[in-house]
Amino acid sequence: MSFSFANVNGRAALLDGGRVYDIGRISHESVSADPMIAISQLDELRELAAHLNDHDDDGPLNEAALGAPVPRPRNSFGIGLNYKDHAEESNMELPAIPVVFSKYPSCISGPFDQVDLRATQGDYEAELVVAIGRTARDVAAEDSWSYVAGLMVGQDISDRELQLGARPPQFGLGKSRDTYGPIGPVLVSPDSFADADNLGITCDVNGERRQDARTSSLIFDVSFLVSYLSSVLTLVPGDLIFTGTPAGVGMADGRFLKPGDVVTTSIEGIGTMKNVCQ
Ligand code: ZN
Repeated sequence: MSFSFANVNGRAALLDGGRVYDIGRISHESVSADPMIAISQLDELRELAAHLNDHDDDGPLNEAALGAPVPRPRNSFGIGLNYKDHAEESNMELPAIPVVFSKYPSCISGPFDQVDLRATQGDYEAELVVAIGRTARDVAAEDSWSYVAGLMVGQDISDRELQLGARPPQFGLGKSRDTYGPIGPVLVSPDSFADADNLGITCDVNGERRQDARTSSLIFDVSFLVSYLSSVLTLVPGDLIFTGTPAGVGMADGRFLKPGDVVTTSIEGIGTMKNVCQ
């Protein structure tokens, strides 16, 4: 059974028809109220989702109450140059193996949180974010999706000066300022999609469309990335993979983010995040 999972005021919840179901309450605490633990209880989540109608709900969803569905990942990976058109606009060669960096977990923030820019070359990167749901080591690509708890919208906010000013460039710090990793608005299980490998992804800044692509254009797709990373290190529930951004980032034409800018990021079948820069 597919499910839509959220962090509502810090508590794990399932969503259905715009209504919130507190997981701790409806499971009689057999599934954790802590989103970081609940996300590892995939079989139980599916079972709860299949019987939501047996329970009263906790009211309508209020976007302001939504936090990051995975608030404290142990590891958070970013993939660089994973769309051909973005590699081209960055004047970089297509990677032969994935370019992987750490987006430090301390940067993770909520889907409607403000972005604290602190940068003159702050930039947006709309990305599909994968959350791991089962411990994964040496997973075959054809089995990868069974290790995925769900998919989220994400922003790989970047300080280009910090990223590219160092020699060689340092992706980690440049993409990990506080609040530089909004994710959400919800986590949607992979079986919710007709084709989880082909989702429309867009980013608007102040209402102007800047990025518009499909995740089917990923050079290294979700199956490959989970398999590849698990061949190097063990992935655990809650680990995140920011899968890379398509063309249209501000760096390409020098249009960097400034205080007051509104970044709206959407993925088909998941939802929309809205982050205001300050
Ligand atoms: Zn990125």
